[in-house]
Amino acid sequence: MTKQDAENNQKSAKVAYFSMEIALEGDVPTYSGGLGVLAGDTIRSAADLQLPLVGITLTYNAGYFYQMIAPDGRQVERDIRWDFSSDFEKVDVKIKLDLQDKSLTVGAWRYDAIGRSGHVVPVYLLDTDLPENEPWQRNLTRVLYDASPFQRIVQEMILGICGVRMLKKLGYNEINTFHMNEGHAAFLIFELFDQYKKMEEVKKRCVFTTHTPVRAGHDQFEYSLVQDVFRDRLPANARDLAGKDLCNMTQLALNGSRYANAVAEKHGEISRRMFPEYDIDHITNGIHMSFWLSPYMHSLFDNELGTAWHHDYHSLEGALDLNSTEVWRAHQKSKYDLLDYEKSHSWVLLDEKMLTIGYARRITEYKRPLLLFSDLERFAKISAGKAQFIFAGKCHPADNQAKSFIKNINDFSDYLWNSYKVRVVFLGNYDMDLSKLMVSGVDVWLNNPRRYREASGTSGMKAALNGVLNFSVLDGWWIEGYKMDPKAGWAIGPGTDDPDAEKKDDASDADDLYTKLQDEIIPIYRKNLDDWRERMKHAIRLVSFFNTHRMVEQYAEKAYKLQKQPLWKSLL
Ligand SMILES: *Cc1c(COP(=O)(O)O)cnc(C)c1O
Repeated sequence: MTKQDAENNQKSAKVAYFSMEIALEGDVPTYSGGLGVLAGDTIRSAADLQLPLVGITLTYNAGYFYQMIAPDGRQVERDIRWDFSSDFEKVDVKIKLDLQDKSLTVGAWRYDAIGRSGHVVPVYLLDTDLPENEPWQRNLTRVLYDASPFQRIVQEMILGICGVRMLKKLGYNEINTFHMNEGHAAFLIFELFDQYKKMEEVKKRCVFTTHTPVRAGHDQFEYSLVQDVFRDRLPANARDLAGKDLCNMTQLALNGSRYANAVAEKHGEISRRMFPEYDIDHITNGIHMSFWLSPYMHSLFDNELGTAWHHDYHSLEGALDLNSTEVWRAHQKSKYDLLDYEKSHSWVLLDEKMLTIGYARRITEYKRPLLLFSDLERFAKISAGKAQFIFAGKCHPADNQAKSFIKNINDFSDYLWNSYKVRVVFLGNYDMDLSKLMVSGVDVWLNNPRRYREASGTSGMKAALNGVLNFSVLDGWWIEGYKMDPKAGWAIGPGTDDPDAEKKDDASDADDLYTKLQDEIIPIYRKNLDDWRERMKHAIRLVSFFNTHRMVEQYAEKAYKLQKQPLWKSLL
């Protein structure tokens, strides 16, 4: 195939996938967290499974941000300096957007996600940093998730409206599904309405995935702001679609879509309760297996399962037959890699032989990053000489409460060492590269959000894939994972069958966390390694379901209406 043939082939893409963030590679800082990582894994699986899909996102000149931990334990942010001309190819097409009473020029960069068999899923990253724009316009795509509503609404216009225009100008004429990965892209509905003039025609072409059960996670804009940026270009039916008093991006997306879904079973239930007038399905999230697997486990899988697992995720159903000693050995190597990294980035030197528990995610209130420290004396007595802890995670630069949590963790770390010789490390700049090291190198993956606030969570799936045991509140994906196989880890607090589960307070969850750590996790790790190794294989087996190949197949069938056959079968 010539390059031209390949490009024509790609331009026959049927699905356009829109996402405010897509985590393409660890050192391409176009993402902040879970949403972007899921989008990246979706793109990677779509490329492996040869789906006719094209991605749209924004490029961010200063990234999200680089996180440093100051000597006093606080988060400090720096702009990222990077030159994406080495990661992306400049696209020779520009389009215009009327914004307020000015015209904005939008350019694009292209990144190719190349699947295992060579299939390319192109991703276009929109950019306003062009010489023909005024300085303030050039800054519009500077950072991801700026706190100002103006910057945000304009970024969402660029994503939704310019995304559609850019695809058209590039010659993508066969797109029959516009997938909004979260409400940020919902202005594409206004753009399609402008083209087709009828809502039935728009609705036929759109699908929507909602990603958070937390109200504040659904973008809403004041109509004064909407009016100011759109001027006379706002469609007459805007308020019917997006809400009367505030322009709600989720509502707009739901009203403009033929299919909508949540990202885990429980999240589906909650989303239907939040938006009772709509039909909301669920497709449980996953992870891209070979992307998240440590190199040691990777060669172990290739040796013992055969290489078909790269396409045929059912291969992992045979995980219990893996050689336990080899699984343990591969895990120990991943653990050494993590601790090597840790020792060169911290003055708290961890011990290779000690049970190591990891906690890393966006730092925010509902995830309760301080739960482990609820009773410092009890925590210290359980852990001293037996367990050590690695924390990591960024918080949004405008979230002052979360900033204080990071400082608290670092203060607790000092106290616990000085008083009890318990080691707690907080590593800076959590990103996909550090995540890969952590989810494969720790022994236990801890997650303790306030119940039913976690839509899915995916870091626990990455841990399970690497034979790391989950220790988590029954929320998001873990409700399903723990039910499938309770040997794959532990639950914190009551199950979903307890009607009062949601009312349990922090103290009761902390109590259960301490009790299980003391009575089950630590003793099994120290005295019953055979049992531990067996559990590791149960964890791995879970990912025969919690992977993005399975997930993308479900999107292809239920949302894109592309294919009924399993996609991987045609690739074997
Ligand atoms: C996987 C990942 C996430 C998402 O994990 P959650 O469990 O959903 O918090 C966030 N950030 C990074 C860097 C990741 O790799």
